[in-house]
Parts: sequence; C-alpha cells; structure tokens
Amino acid sequence: MISIQNLRKLFPGPDGPVTVLNGISLEIAQGETFGIIGRSGAGKSTLVRCVNMLERPTTGNIRVAAREMTTLNGAALGEARRGIGMIFQHFNLLSSRTAAQNIALPLELIGHPRGEIARRVDEMLALVGLSERRDAYPAQLSGGQKQRVGIARALATKPSVLLCDEATSALDPETTKQILALLKEINRSLGLTIMLITHEMEVVREVADRVAVLDHGEVVESGRVFDVFTDPRHPVSRSFVGEVL
Ligand code: ATP
Ligand code: MG
Repeated sequence: MISIQNLRKLFPGPDGPVTVLNGISLEIAQGETFGIIGRSGAGKSTLVRCVNMLERPTTGNIRVAAREMTTLNGAALGEARRGIGMIFQHFNLLSSRTAAQNIALPLELIGHPRGEIARRVDEMLALVGLSERRDAYPAQLSGGQKQRVGIARALATKPSVLLCDEATSALDPETTKQILALLKEINRSLGLTIMLITHEMEVVREVADRVAVLDHGEVVESGRVFDVFTDPRHPVSRSFVGEVL
C-alpha cells in the first residue's frame, strides 16, 4: 500500500545541505499498522510528510496505493492526497470552527454538495464517539476529544491511508490508551493502512504490527513488533525497549 524506495531528503543548512533522510526503504502492506520510532531529530516527521508530499523528497520513490507520488502536481496531487489522511500532535483544528465544521472542511474544499457533507460529518462524529459534542469549539473540548475531531476530519474524505505524527504525545496515558484503541478499531473496521510516528515504544507495542527504528535519517532496525521487543539488535532499539520494560 505504501512503498518507499531509497528516499533521501536534504535541507539547506548554514554550511551547505544537511541530509535528514538518508536512503529509507520501507514496504507497508494494506491494512497494516506500521510504527516508526526514533529520537527527536531522527527525521520521523520529515519521513511521514514525504509520504503525502508536504515535503518533496530530494531523490527516491514513494508509491501510495500504486500511485507514484513524486511525479504528481496540482490537481492530481490534490486527488491523491484525499486518499491519505493525517493527524497531528497538536491536532491542528481551526479554533473558529465547531467540531462538525472542522470535520466538514476537507469536504467543502472538494466542493461536495451540502447534504452529502452533513451526512458524512454525522457519520464521522458517530465513528469517533462525539455526536453529542458536534457544536463545541476546540477550546471547549478536552485533548482526547480534539484528537477525535482530528481523526474524524482526517477520515472525512475516505482515505485508505492514515498518517499519524505523534498523535498521542500531547495526551495523558489514559487518554492515549483511548485514542490508540480508536485507531485500532478504525484499522480493523475500515481496513485502513496506518503509519504511526512516535518516540514512545509503548505506543508501538499497543497498536503496531511492525516497526522501523529511525536514527539519523536511517532505518537501523525493522521487523515485527514482538521480535524487536524481545530481541532488539541495535543500541537505539535497545534503549527504546529498555524504557518500557
Ligand atoms: P521530533 O521527535 O522532535 O519531532 P523528528 O524525528 O520528527 O523529531 P524532523 O522534524 O523530521 O525530526 O527533523 C529532522 C531534522 O531535519 C532535524 O534536524 C530538523 O532540524 C531538520 N529539519 C526539519 N525540517 C526542516 C526544514 N524545513 N528546514 C531545515 N531543516 C529541517
Ligand atoms: Mg517530529
């Protein structure tokens, strides 16, 4: 479903270009929940932002649902992005819009008919368990509720892929559990492919099927979560596992 081949990303720095992603290759299957773990600055956000072309790779290929993302521009890129939802650490909701209006936004941008938008928003609110709070503004919602709105908005256009960048990092442990349970449920019921970035091994253990450990822009270890947990090979993986056990 997501195929990343030899992805490199350089950013301009004061002393010349800096390599932030250095030859990443990953294959993520349809319906899989794939974790990416790494320290601050490892390149996790850059990697996930390359998947929907929020960042343009310097070299390499990224295919999502058999479509080569790096060749797309304009309307074709917009179309492809509708198949890729994204949620963020700080939710990125519009404070001047209610929960329902935030969820409606991506559908309004496409120009869906109003009746269809209303139906879809109701469906999404029910999916994330927020029907009662549809008219609340973000400031009136808890962190967990805000992330539920974020998830509902990300899924409004019926994507096949959901990108999660530290989606639970701003939440307390109990709320984190609830949001991860919701992601698992969505993964199961909708067959969604999930790519989940985190710096917490506990989050990976809770939801992911496989995990890649990212360090200095390289995948230093990857495999099934159980295997990486029971027999971490790389020192960085060991330190993450050590934090949980
Ligand atoms: P964190 O856990 O703190 O979110 P991360 O693993 O997500 O870290 P990235 O945000 O991908 O890390 O950043 C990786 C490196 O790339 C960092 O050194 C960062 O300073 C650099 N970087 C990211 N975006 C840019 C940019 N637009 N221009 C220049 N450098 C950037
Ligand atoms: Mg980041």
